[in-house]
Amino acid sequence: QAVERHRREPSQLLQVLVETQDAIGYLPAAALTRIAGLLELPRSRVEGVAGFYSFLHTEPVGRFRILFSDNIIDRMLGSRALMERLCRRLGVSPGQVSPGGEASVDITSCTGMGDQGPAILVNGVAVTRLDEARVERIAALVHAGTPLAAWPAEFFRVDDNIRRRGALLGADFVPGSALQAAMKRGRNGWLEEMRVSGLRGRGGAGFTTAVKWGACRDAPGADKVVVCNADEGEPGTFKDRVLLASQADRVIEGMTLAAWATGARQGLLYLRGEYRYLLKHLRAVLAVRRAAGLLGARILGESGFDFDIDIHLGAGAYVCGEETALLESLEGKRGTPRIRPPFPVTHGYLGRPTVVNNVETLAKTTLIALQGGAAFAATGTPQSTGTKLLSISGDCAYSGVYEYPFGVTIEHVLEDCGAHDPQVVQVGGASGVTIASHEFHRRIAFEDVPTAGAFMVFDGRRDPFEMARNFVHFFAHESCGFCTPCRVGTALLKGYMDKLASGKGAKMDLADIEWLDRLLKNASHCGLGSSAPNPVIDTLLKFRPAYERRLVSLDFKPAFDLDAALETARRMTGRDDPAAHLDRREEV
Ligand code: SF4
Repeated sequence: QAVERHRREPSQLLQVLVETQDAIGYLPAAALTRIAGLLELPRSRVEGVAGFYSFLHTEPVGRFRILFSDNIIDRMLGSRALMERLCRRLGVSPGQVSPGGEASVDITSCTGMGDQGPAILVNGVAVTRLDEARVERIAALVHAGTPLAAWPAEFFRVDDNIRRRGALLGADFVPGSALQAAMKRGRNGWLEEMRVSGLRGRGGAGFTTAVKWGACRDAPGADKVVVCNADEGEPGTFKDRVLLASQADRVIEGMTLAAWATGARQGLLYLRGEYRYLLKHLRAVLAVRRAAGLLGARILGESGFDFDIDIHLGAGAYVCGEETALLESLEGKRGTPRIRPPFPVTHGYLGRPTVVNNVETLAKTTLIALQGGAAFAATGTPQSTGTKLLSISGDCAYSGVYEYPFGVTIEHVLEDCGAHDPQVVQVGGASGVTIASHEFHRRIAFEDVPTAGAFMVFDGRRDPFEMARNFVHFFAHESCGFCTPCRVGTALLKGYMDKLASGKGAKMDLADIEWLDRLLKNASHCGLGSSAPNPVIDTLLKFRPAYERRLVSLDFKPAFDLDAALETARRMTGRDDPAAHLDRREEV
């Protein structure tokens, strides 16, 4: 049925797999074979895609699949102890299915609920504010086999937690108003207004939006595409979740504004799997806009302005936040980043000219259409115009979403969110920048501290080494495995950090870590690999004692008992060189 619903389109493979799994609980081999046949795809391709995404399963995972968000903030809120408690109650070990096939419990990367954690996903749906009482109730519901739809509604409550409103979050919006304003200017006039605004992408890279739109408009090919990247996977960020929940009309209108500028007729919104609870809401917004003539053929009566949007659901792969990996995923493939050039603006979705913009970027374009580019650029700094949404979590009194003009200092933000004794702020998530207390005067801006939106606060009780270790585990888990430096480098880095954590670290390991950092930075194929060492580089530089106090005195210490491993060989050969015993080296 899923295959037919998607018109037997091979590019819909991921959606077909998601829907098939929803229907039967997992993806058995026979289902993969049948899907491959119906879509006329090699079975290896179907199996390759099913094996790539962490939310797809080719083995049974129990009637209830429970995944604990393993972000450092969830851990600080006690997620590990809660997971152990739930495992005990369900009689299951992490990563395994209970004997009766009742449930499985495991961890997953950040679920985008850092402001209301600890959070879990149950059969893909977010449950927030976990505590011991809630764990006990969940265990009882699982034991009773109560369907998810009958679980208490408050389990699934997700608040917006908007704490500070600026130009975007503070203004009312009438659907269609921005579009009318942009259409009055004409397509070229609208693009010129965008250029005047200086708007830069809010997904992290900060590329000028008008330049991207102009390049797509000018690319050969009539069938252009606008893609909204709603795959907000950076640990610690959740502002796109709030925009999609509370400002969906602005986001969708932003996509339509991009279509007006570029001439695109097709739109795709790629929604991260963790936010699937927003699907119903987003589909309803699309339906209302179609009925109002704001989507579909002849938008607002304009001949030749036809544009509509489909929603695609991701399935748990952080790397798909990278725009070319996201395009691969939209085409129903593994989310492997492409080699660039060519860039998506000329060769994007199915080889067509494509604009890929972040949720916040698109929402901001409605402000430019309504106020004009110059008014938008009057806020912020000359290189970073407008406002920025921050997702604030961690050791502060008021977690949530804050909107500030670019250029705000970190200490100002810390004061607003009620952070007491802050020692470290991780700006930009796992791939971002670690800011120590002597740097709190620095500013949030592309020219100083850039960020896609995550702002995680750590006070004096926290250990910067453990923060970096959590991020290194995250990258090792999320590496797509395509290129060796990242696949092997992130695994080795994880091994070194674990070795240090277990008290077996030596000076030589720090030197190896620094070497690995350089390797990952210089030889990785995409941004995931090159930014994976950021938290280690920053914390080694700014919090070196957190590493050094974990070292033993020797220059080198293996992660295992080397002498025991060599014992048999020494006995068999009759050779036993004293200099080869690490613990006797000082005597030799
Ligand atoms: Fe994949 Fe990592 Fe290579 Fe990027 S750097 S392509 S995530 S293996």
